[in-house]
Amino acid sequence: MNQAANANLFSRLFDGLDDPKRLAIETHDGARISYGDLIARAGQMANVLVARGVKPGDRVAVQVEKSVTNIVLYLATVRAGAVYLPLNTAYTLNELDYFIGDAEPSLVVCDPAKAEGFAPIAAKVKARVETLGPDGKGSLTEAADKASSEFATVPRANDDLAAILYTSGTTGRSKGAMLTHDNLASNSLSLVGYWRFTDNDVLIHALPIYHTHGLFVATNVTLFARAAMIFLPKLDPDLIIKLMARATVLMGVPTFYTRLLQNSALSRETTKHMRLFISGSAPLLAETHREWSARTGHAVLERYGMTETNMNTSNPYDGERVPGAVGFPLPGVSVRVTDPETAKELPRDEIGMIEVKGPNVFKGYWRMPEKTKAEFRDDGFFITGDLGKIDAKGYVHILGRGKDLVISGGFNVYPKEIESEIDAMPGVIESAVIGVPHADFGEGVTAVLVCNKGVDVTEAAVLKALDGRLAKFKMPKRVFVVDELPRNTMGKVQKNVLRDTYKDIYAKK
Ligand code: AMP
Repeated sequence: MNQAANANLFSRLFDGLDDPKRLAIETHDGARISYGDLIARAGQMANVLVARGVKPGDRVAVQVEKSVTNIVLYLATVRAGAVYLPLNTAYTLNELDYFIGDAEPSLVVCDPAKAEGFAPIAAKVKARVETLGPDGKGSLTEAADKASSEFATVPRANDDLAAILYTSGTTGRSKGAMLTHDNLASNSLSLVGYWRFTDNDVLIHALPIYHTHGLFVATNVTLFARAAMIFLPKLDPDLIIKLMARATVLMGVPTFYTRLLQNSALSRETTKHMRLFISGSAPLLAETHREWSARTGHAVLERYGMTETNMNTSNPYDGERVPGAVGFPLPGVSVRVTDPETAKELPRDEIGMIEVKGPNVFKGYWRMPEKTKAEFRDDGFFITGDLGKIDAKGYVHILGRGKDLVISGGFNVYPKEIESEIDAMPGVIESAVIGVPHADFGEGVTAVLVCNKGVDVTEAAVLKALDGRLAKFKMPKRVFVVDELPRNTMGKVQKNVLRDTYKDIYAKK
């Protein structure tokens, strides 16, 4: 196979690079890595991987903090034809035991501080352990520094695996989503065009890189565009606002936007060099969208994707970015809404299951053929598990995960509908509506609210305000006010945690 025919994501990213000196990554502490450096370092690292016995198709499981070397490791793994498997840095050894046992990697890379704990877990699957610390140091870097930077990229076909990402799965076993070279390359290239990325762009990269958002959307899109990214270890609102003076794009989860709005330095003036603010991974409140527009003059561009599918839809670059909507299907992606019971496609504006098909959609769940089969329709559409609708103008709206649907007295209650009503009340910042076991109704609609400090929002006041606005069966049976909603690192509200907290409130005494 000649270079041009090589579908390896690494070749698609870097073949034809015309200016190796161009800046690829700048770190918060001032290091500058050019495209040429990145490719050379990926060559060194790929040689180390091969020397450690990593063969094409092998999994390389990685649980390390965000660093440039971590990106080099990702690129090197793909370049060597192996399968990159990032793991959330919050996972404990007990959880890692499951992932390593399931994925059977030939190499595990971890923080030096965790090497001892990893050893018996890796030994069970005969994997080697190498280390990489938050400062970029460790056994892996030591070896890479001495290795040759020459490495012939291993040819791969479109359909070969480039990565496995475990879904954050709040119920049941976490599943390994198998992503191919073409899944990743085609989706990023499509986003480069849709979001008008060019080599003039500078992305503020403050997302974790064990998740599809920070690893694929942010990193691959930047690299495909020959743009630059400024790597921050985590969300730091003061620093991000400062960096906006010389950056052009921010990609964030909704929490980024709410936190930045709390910072008095955010203004039209401080954001005037920026051209695009993108949000995804969890719903952006319509209120946050409006506040952001009012403060900065920029309409946040919200998009929708998931680990299994990469990105599916996006609000338009030109044209209306509708608050609360996730936009149109990306080029080449088909989106439809179906009746969850009959699987029949539903007309516009009717709520049902969102299904997607396209080159972005993953190959299946690792070693779970039955589960994979159950989540695809015969005509190739993937059943996302998200409930939503497509409106008359073609915008897709997400109304929540199917498993978060509340069924009260036999009626379907879509949490988002009630949350939107509650969020619009004065003094309310946000809310989560859940179904909790109820002796008479099966599930009782229950609302959990976060309010502005010093505002006294009572249960009675909320119920009074909703009365007449919502059908009786949708009315919350109880309302609770809390300081904050439980969220995971990607900013998603953990409704399973809330359901657990309130599970006994309707129990018969
Ligand atoms: P993950 O696989 O961790 O990226 O989670 C994917 C899920 O996040 C999707 O199935 C949606 O439920 C949710 N999600 C992602 N983007 C959005 C969005 N813009 N609005 C609402 N939910 C979203």
